[in-house]
Amino acid sequence: MLRKLGYAGAVALVGAEADPPYERPPLSKAYLAGEEPFERMMMRPKEAWTELNIELLSGRKIVAVDPAMHEARCESGERITYGKMIWAAGGAPRRLPTKGGDLAGVHVIRTRADVEAIRAELERARDIVIIGGGYIGLEAASVLVGMGARVVVLEAQERLLARVAGPALSAFYEKEHLGHGVDIRLGAKIEAIIEKGGRPSGVRLAGGTDVPADLVIVGIGIAPEVEPLIAAGAEEALGGVKVDEFCRTSLPDIYAAGDCAAHANRYAGGAVIRLESVQNAHDQAAVAAASIAGAAKPYDAVPWFWSDQYDLKLQTAGLSNGHDKAVLRGDPDSRSFSIVYLRDDRVIALDCVNATRDYAQGRRLVATGGVCDLETIGDPGSPLFKPTVRKG
Ligand SMILES: Cc1cc2nc3c(=O)[nH]c(=O)nc-3n(C[C@H](O)[C@H](O)[C@H](O)COP(=O)(O)OP(=O)(O)OC[C@H]3O[C@@H](n4cnc5c(N)ncnc54)[C@H](O)[C@@H]3O)c2cc1C
Repeated sequence: MLRKLGYAGAVALVGAEADPPYERPPLSKAYLAGEEPFERMMMRPKEAWTELNIELLSGRKIVAVDPAMHEARCESGERITYGKMIWAAGGAPRRLPTKGGDLAGVHVIRTRADVEAIRAELERARDIVIIGGGYIGLEAASVLVGMGARVVVLEAQERLLARVAGPALSAFYEKEHLGHGVDIRLGAKIEAIIEKGGRPSGVRLAGGTDVPADLVIVGIGIAPEVEPLIAAGAEEALGGVKVDEFCRTSLPDIYAAGDCAAHANRYAGGAVIRLESVQNAHDQAAVAAASIAGAAKPYDAVPWFWSDQYDLKLQTAGLSNGHDKAVLRGDPDSRSFSIVYLRDDRVIALDCVNATRDYAQGRRLVATGGVCDLETIGDPGSPLFKPTVRKG
């Protein structure tokens, strides 16, 4: 975005991983399934960064930032000076705090290396336990059960996707996974990972039940990577770093974007939230770049998200938190339907399963204030968004 907006100064892209920048969504989908080569996940071929005159400083982890000196220090001791900095360091997957949580054979899915490590063990893994019934855990379950593994999902809440979806969508996905042979245990409290020869042999639940496992995947969320900024005095919020509508942190010349950036969001009624989505990472990065390039515009993008499980494409627009009504559009048994979330009779969000037209129209509806025809909203034959025609 900086180059697109005509920024001509030096740009360096510093990253802890050895790989050039890549998209993460395929990690729990086609890349885990072995159906997509890494090259297809790369944001650009390596040479393209050189052509854009952007220096790739890969394999460097920033451990300290000195805002007064405009200097960042790498783990290796190397120092990098900057005029402006965009902190887009994402988050680190939460580990299981229980006994055995750090055994070899207990995995997370955040990086290419994480998935390579899982794939290297898949051949001898028969029983796979996935801890966490959120999007990443469920996507992994759909891939792994499709590869012939016995898969058990352990979820602490009383329903799947409890943090991000309404009860109707949770129930639909639970039924789908059960139908594909995934064993789901809700309300599961993990007591320990049982060890045998340095590897997991099972997961012990509170109450004494043991679930066999020779490979465990933990998908219980992330902790934002913001330690160096907070240590330098940046304002913290929701475990991340607080930014304003131009993605500025409270530290001079330091912006933040993506999973780690806590911001006031119009679509959450102005509440401060963090969004962990490709949409937010791209749109906030564009806002930070525009500020730096002298074309500042505030962040105001409609949140959207997708998830692929089996042959189901879920597309979400808006944020459903705080809805006072949920209307079903279509029949979940047909495996193509939407759930429309309203607050004060205005559409604030939609979850669309194999219903791309609803999603496209719904996104425009959410963006334009959500005024809709309440009589027909539950009828999949009626359009959700009708452009207004002005006479004259
Ligand atoms: C398995 C998986 C599946 C997903 N699927 C979807 C999906 O279907 N749809 C969707 O919308 N979103 C999905 N997401 C979320 C989406 O990928 C993230 O929201 C997005 O990657 C966030 O971008 P980011 O730049 O904020 O952070 P990241 O993509 O995490 O990038 C941060 C980078 O900073 C590096 N870094 C961290 N700390 C430091 C440091 N101290 N110094 C230097 N470098 C550092 C990291 O190594 C990393 O390369 C998925 C995420 C995962 C992990």
